[in-house]
Amino acid sequence: MSYERAHIRKMHGYVPGKQPTDPTAIKLNTNENPYPPSPAVMDALRAVSPEELRKYPSPFADGVRAVLAELHGLAVDQVMVVNGGDELLRLVITTFVEPGQSIGVLDPSYSLYPVLAQLHGSPVVPIPLADDWSVPDDAGARLDDAHAPLTFLVNPHAPSGTLVPIDRVRALATALPGVLVVDEAYVDFVDPALGHDVVALVKAMPNVIVLRTLSKGYSLAGLRCGYALGARELIAPMLTKTRDSYNVDAVAQRVAIAALTDQEYARETWRKVREERARLRETLRGLGLESPPSQSNFLLVRVPGGPTAAAKLHAGLEEKGVLVRYFSSDVRLADKLRITIGTPEQNRRLLDGLRDLLGAGAA
Ligand SMILES: *Cc1c(COP(=O)(O)O)cnc(C)c1O
Repeated sequence: MSYERAHIRKMHGYVPGKQPTDPTAIKLNTNENPYPPSPAVMDALRAVSPEELRKYPSPFADGVRAVLAELHGLAVDQVMVVNGGDELLRLVITTFVEPGQSIGVLDPSYSLYPVLAQLHGSPVVPIPLADDWSVPDDAGARLDDAHAPLTFLVNPHAPSGTLVPIDRVRALATALPGVLVVDEAYVDFVDPALGHDVVALVKAMPNVIVLRTLSKGYSLAGLRCGYALGARELIAPMLTKTRDSYNVDAVAQRVAIAALTDQEYARETWRKVREERARLRETLRGLGLESPPSQSNFLLVRVPGGPTAAAKLHAGLEEKGVLVRYFSSDVRLADKLRITIGTPEQNRRLLDGLRDLLGAGAA
């Protein structure tokens, strides 16, 4: 006898990447920033007072919103703070999708989207990405046919790391019937020379919500803080109705302000990740492990020899204490590994392990 609702009993939950207890493990499996958060973050933590913990926090996280509005050149009511980007994914579904209505997903992408759709009782309309992971030209028309009130686009794309140019995102948002959520969890790692900037789209389009997180770019995955940018009419119902009251705790608000204010520190970590990304990609290619050009903090490498070889390499690395991510159940990903960019030392340990396992130990 089960007390669960029928559709929840039938579904599987999201499977997170492993969080090993062994402190010597090289963790390249969940796309954390390999560098510690800003020293200003640790100062802010130490400055938390008992009084701040005794009282409820600012209900709308107004201090954080003010910093974000300034940072992005938007009005405060175009910004909302959430308890991790994942909270926003759930909120947009609750706010904009009637149970049973379809949710558009560019496929493959973040495996949490279909899980949240299932929770809501909504079928997913998967739009397969092209072989180079680009968005197909007819994606908007197909989502229109499906009457999808909400569509998720992760950009830069996960798990490939490729970037959809802003013009293409705008075209998709224009062709869609409903709201487009542009999940920019990894946008901080985009090469600034590309001039990628989604904020103009937020200002111009009535149906675009951008997700950002402090988990990756600001080295704060343990804190749980993210935010939404969007038109006032999209932000307001989430802010005043569907969100939990006090969704962002007092410590998170204080720390988020410190992290966001120290842009210089964060930007330096992004620069180092980009530098290592370029170097690691070249070296992996030399080992026969090709990956598409990534604007994110990970690479999706193809393992010659197909799914069996990929599974074996994944397990072999884990035995050596190097964790990477393997998505065995998706046909297009089963011959690939997703590897987070680590520090130079972590990447060296990864490469040593790979050379050993690929039988190129002498090279
Ligand atoms: C990390 C991530 C998020 C948000 O993560 P939080 O830690 O909940 O802020 C959202 N989308 C994608 C694709 C991610 O990788």
